[in-house]
Amino acid sequence: MDFRILGLSDELVRAVESLGFEKPTPIQEKAIPYLIEGERDFVGLAQTGTGKTGAYGLPLIQSIDLAISRPQAIVICPTRELCLQIAGDLRNFAKYMEDVRVAAVYGGADIVKQIRTVKGGAQIIAATPGRLLDLINRKAIKPGHVTRVVLDEADEMLNMGFQEDINAILSALPEERRTWLFSATMPKGVAAIAANYQTNPVEVSM
Ligand code: AMP
Repeated sequence: MDFRILGLSDELVRAVESLGFEKPTPIQEKAIPYLIEGERDFVGLAQTGTGKTGAYGLPLIQSIDLAISRPQAIVICPTRELCLQIAGDLRNFAKYMEDVRVAAVYGGADIVKQIRTVKGGAQIIAATPGRLLDLINRKAIKPGHVTRVVLDEADEMLNMGFQEDINAILSALPEERRTWLFSATMPKGVAAIAANYQTNPVEVSM
């Protein structure tokens, strides 16, 4: 099995090869074909270290309409560190594509700078929940073009008390979008998000 067979573009295959990824990890092999197709919501039960960022990040990048300089994909995650790591991974995956712009927005940092980055044409946003909601409420992020949202480490976000923010964010996004949920565990709160905001998701566990 190699990355090309999964349906990734030449630019993305070149990028993962240049990062030294020789073959897809199990979650990448299972998730990528569904996520590229883009027809279904998705639940991935996967720990950190399984390659889950590539599993959702590569299809996310492939879904971007490069002619539109508006947020089209949002990755929500629990911490600033993870947010920066995800944004870095996504930029690496997109390194052979022109004009894919990724912004990282998180709490505890200058919001004015983040607003400038978002308004500079970011198509993919990696964000922590509180700051993302703040930017949506200020209309700095207008979610009208968002077609994909990823909840990464959903169980961790609920542990940290982000349930209400996540509900508010998901309610503010266009209904006609895909919701991809990744979590190491499936406690009731995470199952409730899936039940409330997903339709007949594909479920993969590692
Ligand atoms: P993640 O679970 O997304 O945090 O990824 C864990 C680590 O595995 C990261 O350092 C990735 O760069 C690396 N990685 C992801 N996919 C692959 C792959 N297919 N082959 C080799 N390394 C990978």
